[in-house]
Amino acid sequence: MIQIHDRRASIMDKVMARVEIDEETGCWEWTGPTSGDGRGGGYPRMSLDGQTVAVHRVVYTNVHGYIPSKKQIDHGCNNRRCVNPAHLEMMSHLKNQRLRAARARGASA
Ligand SMILES: [Zn+2]
Repeated sequence: MIQIHDRRASIMDKVMARVEIDEETGCWEWTGPTSGDGRGGGYPRMSLDGQTVAVHRVVYTNVHGYIPSKKQIDHGCNNRRCVNPAHLEMMSHLKNQRLRAARARGASA
């Protein structure tokens, strides 16, 4: 168990080194590389064990545990660069799409 804890702590250290906390929103703003500017872009990326991984998924797994492959991680704060585990919620792709559509309607109204 100690080894697992050390690994988690070292991953969080690595993440936090590239995070700036927004005191107003509580968002952990990722300052490292992202998945780009295109569709599905703007999500935090980092290198872990030689692989490129989504930072918000790594943080969520570290704090809350395993994410089934069909589930997505939604940002409750609607800030893609945020990796605060308290702002992340696991949900199905369908629910995520519905939420996104609802938010888009709300934003344009
Ligand atoms: Zn946030």
